[in-house]
Amino acid sequence: MDFFPVYLKLTDASCLVVGGGKIAERKIDLLRRAGARVTVVSPTLIPALRIAKEEGQITHQAMLFSTDALDGHSLIIAATNEEDINRRVALAAKQRNIPVNVVDRPDLCSFIVPSIVDRSPVIIAISTGGASPILARLLKSRLETLIPATYGRLAALARAFRADVHARFSNARDRRIFWEEILQGPTAELVFARRESEARESLKQALSTVDPTPPPRGEVYLVGAGPGDPDLLTFRALRLMQQADIVLYDRLVAPAIVDLVRRDAERLYVGKKKSDHSVPQPDINQLLVELATSGKRVLRLKGGDPFVFGRGGEEIADLVNAKIPFQVIPGITAASGCAAYAGIPLTHRDFAQSCTFVTGHLKDGAIDLNFKSLAQPDQTVIVYMSLTGLEVICQEMCAHGAPPDLPAALIEQGTTAQQRVIVGTLASLPEQVAAANVQAPTLLIIGKVVTLHDSLGWFRPDTENDAVLLPRPESSGQNMT
Ligand code: SAH
Repeated sequence: MDFFPVYLKLTDASCLVVGGGKIAERKIDLLRRAGARVTVVSPTLIPALRIAKEEGQITHQAMLFSTDALDGHSLIIAATNEEDINRRVALAAKQRNIPVNVVDRPDLCSFIVPSIVDRSPVIIAISTGGASPILARLLKSRLETLIPATYGRLAALARAFRADVHARFSNARDRRIFWEEILQGPTAELVFARRESEARESLKQALSTVDPTPPPRGEVYLVGAGPGDPDLLTFRALRLMQQADIVLYDRLVAPAIVDLVRRDAERLYVGKKKSDHSVPQPDINQLLVELATSGKRVLRLKGGDPFVFGRGGEEIADLVNAKIPFQVIPGITAASGCAAYAGIPLTHRDFAQSCTFVTGHLKDGAIDLNFKSLAQPDQTVIVYMSLTGLEVICQEMCAHGAPPDLPAALIEQGTTAQQRVIVGTLASLPEQVAAANVQAPTLLIIGKVVTLHDSLGWFRPDTENDAVLLPRPESSGQNMT
């Protein structure tokens, strides 16, 4: 984080703007909206600022900038088109420890002014740290369309009832649940429809009828977090991530996804790297029961889909026995995510009429799979957890009748910026992978559909190591992207 975001209270604070042109005018307008008393130092003023001066909205010192002008001000903005003056203002302000902004010169600023979405009292500030103000403006316009114009009214309503709600609930958690229901339910809709008096009544009614000491309502959300790219979360997953009191996650869940969980929710890492089960499965099941019984809303966040090689069934079986309410939210499983991002359709009219998901987990060096059936033609076989057993799997496939030149691909860290796709055949893939210093998780796709990667592969993130690891041969049919 290059800049620390804060909101300054400027009511009645005296602020200095150096410059009397158009850009200065925009900054003055913002400062005045925040209640600041603005002094402008500039030999001349544009007409709009002259009027503001005549109407007593600003104080004007008609002179060139001198460092004395800074005295008594708590915030400075330099908005002249004289590089030299802007620099002097920045230097003098920094020497006096007064926050200073130089328009369009982040390097001279001690603070920057973000793009804002103003739904007062709700203010959303957007900054790119000076990297690209245009990008910030584009983001702003997206947010403007997403957030109802009356959102500020909703905040004002909440403020008006804040003390009453505080008095009604003795604990913060019940209060939070009450507010979450109000701010996302029919009361909020009434505000958005500009029926504010009805909204007030509805809130009053809710407050008088709510049970101020509800029995603990623990619940478990078993949520699929998808294969890695946070954009592949479902809306429902994201919503429940905002409601949870505690989140239990394992290694497959990307940090960028864990970051999206409500900030003050407790986070509990429960491991699950191969051969590193930091919390054994029975303990996780038990923990879910205990946390929910104590009244917590527990988010169990799992990589991919919880019901595909995710032991989701086992985790909720214990909840059923303990009569704890739960929801299961599907996620994009690694097979779908990796296939889509590698441009390898799992089925195809010409190449594969069926598709089978299996796990390649080795038990005592062997894999207990029905290779006879997997080696049949015209299908796609997806092998989860296949890195260690890759060689055995490819050998067994061939031993059961699959042609050694059957295309196969290993997708490493699919859907993420680190994604790599190693394409070969049953005969060649184990060696290619051994040479490629591959990092888990990886997914194996076997079948003729793999040949489509060459033409349909679209997601090609820059990875620094590409060239070093495996140069892309021109026409061998074996490649890595
Ligand atoms: N429930 C998960 C699977 C858990 S088993 C799901 O539905 O995807 C763990 C295996 O999933 C890994 O060994 C790997 O084979 C696969 N996997 C998960 N995420 C992956 C990713 N981003 N890229 C490649 N394989 C992945």
